[in-house]
Parts: sequence; structure tokens; C-alpha cells
Amino acid sequence: MELLKTAYSELIKQKALELGFDACGFAKAEELVPEKGILKDWLENQMHGNMHYMANHFEKRVDPSKLVEGAKSVIVLLSNYTPKVKQADPEAPIIARYAYGTDYHFVIKDQLEILFQYIKDEIYPSLEGRYFVDSAPVLERSLAAKAGLGWIGKNTHLIHKKLGSYVFISELIINLDLPPSEPIKDACGGCTRCIDACPTQAILPSRILDARNCISYLTIENKDSIPENFQGKMENRVFGCDICQEVCPWTWKSRPHNNQNLTAVTKIMQLTKDEWHNLNNEQFIDIFRKSAVKRAKFSGLRRNINFLLSKNTK
Ligand code: SF4
Ligand code: SF4
Repeated sequence: MELLKTAYSELIKQKALELGFDACGFAKAEELVPEKGILKDWLENQMHGNMHYMANHFEKRVDPSKLVEGAKSVIVLLSNYTPKVKQADPEAPIIARYAYGTDYHFVIKDQLEILFQYIKDEIYPSLEGRYFVDSAPVLERSLAAKAGLGWIGKNTHLIHKKLGSYVFISELIINLDLPPSEPIKDACGGCTRCIDACPTQAILPSRILDARNCISYLTIENKDSIPENFQGKMENRVFGCDICQEVCPWTWKSRPHNNQNLTAVTKIMQLTKDEWHNLNNEQFIDIFRKSAVKRAKFSGLRRNINFLLSKNTK
């Protein structure tokens, strides 16, 4: 039986790579023990800021078998999004790399659906479960680490030894029992580059992110105005940040992705500093129609641009 399960895992991995995923691992669907306590403390200390949804579905978030009834395994997938290109104008406000192309939620969801159907048709007709990409209360980084796809670095990102940390994490939570992958060792060592480089000291030495101080949170999730004490610290960021990944030696090794569906949108990459500064709602709808930047809405993006501009008028 174990041999058969291993053969299933191999077939699934092979199919995942064929579909364009860059890595695939397996974890048991069970309670994430240390993460449960860490998340509880993080929430109690209000480090989630106004991401109130993070406090919802606590038990499901820390245990995929409670999120999906009857779940036995989690198949975790990574999709490399390391871009080939840079924003053309070096003075233009900066957006996070994950937002260069078509919104990954759509692209990856399609691949997950095909993989799910493949398992049902070719391996296990009684398959039941659900699949997600950043779309449910799931501790995706922890599951990816549990599935042997990397470790959670001091910058709080999942780091894969070959792909680095510019990866989307997605998962199938299913009722098929598969052998779990072996977790790999943390390889941050004595390095503290990410903690030292963070312009807002958002990463605590205990590898906890105080989201309230993180530029990524302030420019995307935060619905209020950006507090004045961040003036001069935004490093020209208007949507996300990436600094703690840029300085990480493990990202320097990553190769650009070759997923056509994630190709950077030319209109976004070509926006000049002046065009960014004068961006209006019509242009926003046209340029970011299919981009993850839409998540900030025009009002949010405009707030972020204005915040950068206001430093020049003080
Ligand atoms: S994304 Fe930016 S602000 Fe947030 S922790 Fe990393 S370096 Fe700091
Ligand atoms: S910069 Fe250094 S400490 Fe931070 S995640 Fe990368 S390897 Fe780890």
C-alpha cells in the first residue's frame, strides 16, 4: 500500500510540473502545532493591524483537516514568479514583483483545477477536497515548509533552495492519504540581511512580522491613511515592498519564470514616474484591469502615491 501511495505522489508531482508548477510537496492535513501558538500571540498583540479577517476561522486556519472535511493530505505547489524584466523608469514608484503580470489568483486556479481533475480521473475516483491559492484561511507558508519545499526565513517568506522566495504558494487539500515529504533544514544561518535592510523595522528578531510596520501591509491591506511616522521610509514603494527578499542571497540564485500567463504587463512596466504621479481612475482601470494591483483599488493606490508625493511638500 505504501508503495502504491508513493507511486501516486510521483504521478501527481510529474503532472504538476507538466502543468507549469515549479515544485510540489506533500504534508499531512493536521493541526499545525507551533504555528497555532504563534498565530494566537500575533493576533493578541494586534500585529495584524486592521486585517481583521486574520482572526476569523482560527481553528480552520491552523488545521486544514478542519477547513476541508475528511482531508488527509495537503498537496502544496510553488509557482516561480521571478520576473525577467524591471520597471522601465528607475525613478518610477515601485510595485512588488508579484504584481507585474496577470493576477496570479486566476492563472494558478486554472492549473489547480486541472491537477485536481487529473487525480480524480487517473488516480483516485473517490477524490474529494478543495484547492486554494491565497483564497482561504490557510497558513500556506507553514504548509509549504511542512511539505519539504523550503524553510521560513527570517524575512518570514518561504525560501526554496533553487527557486528562492519569489514564489506563489497554492494547495489542494484532499481526502487521499499520501506519504508526507521530509521537511528541510533552515539555511538562514547567522545572516540578518533582511532584518537589517527593512526600512521600517517590521521584522522582529524572533522571525515575527509586525504587519502594522510593514510597507506591504501599509500599501495594500491597510484601509486607513498611512501614519505620518512612515514619511520618508517608504523607499518609493506604492504597492508592496520586496526589500527583505531583494537582499536575501537565496533570491539572487532564482531564475526568471517561464509561465506565459504570468508575463509582466507592458503597460505597467513602462509607466514613467510622471505618469504614476498623475495616475487617474480611468488609467487605473485600463492599466491594472487584470493585475493584482486592483486589490488596492484606485483610492488605495492614489493614497499611496499621494503619500510619497507629500514628502516633497513638507
Ligand atoms: S516587505 Fe518591506 S517593510 Fe515589510 S518586512 Fe519586508 S522589508 Fe520590511
Ligand atoms: S536575508 Fe538572510 S536571514 Fe533573511 S531570509 Fe534571507 S538568508 Fe535568511
